Amino acid sequence: MIDLVEQIVGHQLEATVKELGQPKFRAKQLREWIVQQRVDSFEAMTNLPKALREKLAESCRIWTTTVAKHTTADDGTEKLLVQLHDGGRIECVLLRDGDRRTICISSQVGCAMGCVFCASGLDGVERNLTAGEIAEQMLRLQMLLPAGERLSHIVVMGMGEPLANVDRLLQALNFATDEDGLGISARRITISTVGLPPAIDKLAKLDTRFHLAVSLHAPNDELRTQIVPVNKNIGIDAILQAADHYFDVSGRRLTFEYVLLSDLNDRPEHAQQLARLLKGRPALLNVIPYNPVPGLPYETPSIHAQQRFREILENYGITVKFRHRKGDKINAACGQLRRLSKENLVPLEGTIR
Ligand code: SAH
Repeated sequence: MIDLVEQIVGHQLEATVKELGQPKFRAKQLREWIVQQRVDSFEAMTNLPKALREKLAESCRIWTTTVAKHTTADDGTEKLLVQLHDGGRIECVLLRDGDRRTICISSQVGCAMGCVFCASGLDGVERNLTAGEIAEQMLRLQMLLPAGERLSHIVVMGMGEPLANVDRLLQALNFATDEDGLGISARRITISTVGLPPAIDKLAKLDTRFHLAVSLHAPNDELRTQIVPVNKNIGIDAILQAADHYFDVSGRRLTFEYVLLSDLNDRPEHAQQLARLLKGRPALLNVIPYNPVPGLPYETPSIHAQQRFREILENYGITVKFRHRKGDKINAACGQLRRLSKENLVPLEGTIR
């Protein structure tokens, strides 16, 4: 079987169409049907001869993935649990906010970084997603929009560590930015990373314009290694150095993310240390009050502790935003839907409204 999304993302469709004995313009037609017209079957490709549609249906498939579960929240957030050809499962989300149509996509099945509060990494990493599997999430989420609407933003903040799979990720993001692809400007694409300096340097070298969000979660190495174990062999200094360099090259303002965990990283001294660390950097600090994961011992800080944390940082002149996750009710955050389905705590079919 020839996988067409994979072929489109890998720029191989024209060669494949030639091998099938078809003229070149068929490649363009196929791409338009799949990417722009958002069709789900060969029968729907009405400007292709019937015989060709039948031939394609025998030798090719559009998707390698299926949707195992689709949930919708009251605020318009929709989440897909996507099943891969080998049975692995990943999650991706569509968020509606004013005119924005933002999607959050996964880069790996599971995660190897081991952040202690995160549901995605509890069982380690199974494998990297292919560029095609990353792009299929974009296309499947795009299909949830009415014909006149387009995806406007992408955040790579789903399951996995995107920079641990950077080559395939970049291939998929090139598809996202391509005029022939989704035509989304790199400025509207955010890669969220635990902070892997060699991969950040690679982005700088390739002169990419993606927005980088670094998940910091602690203001000193001792605490960060406790919360983000992979930090042990990296260290905050090396991450900040790579991030600063990326800023210098790309001109893209940095974002730092900080999941606020009660009594662990939310004390006044942490806020002060963090402020000193970030002072002078043209950065935005995104604070995310912990979103509880069943079975984990961490707690969301009280509103009072959250405010105290914010005030200290603001007094130092740091730009702070508190981000409250959308779609909590449908477990739209952080590998949670996959866990529930794994443990069979929720039925796999149907829509929760
Ligand atoms: N591996 C990447 C991207 C995936 S996680 C990274 O570390 O950035 C995307 C963001 O969600 C990260 O900042 C992560 O720390 C945060 N996150 C994960 N689990 C969370 C939870 N239970 N509550 C709040 N934020 C969480």
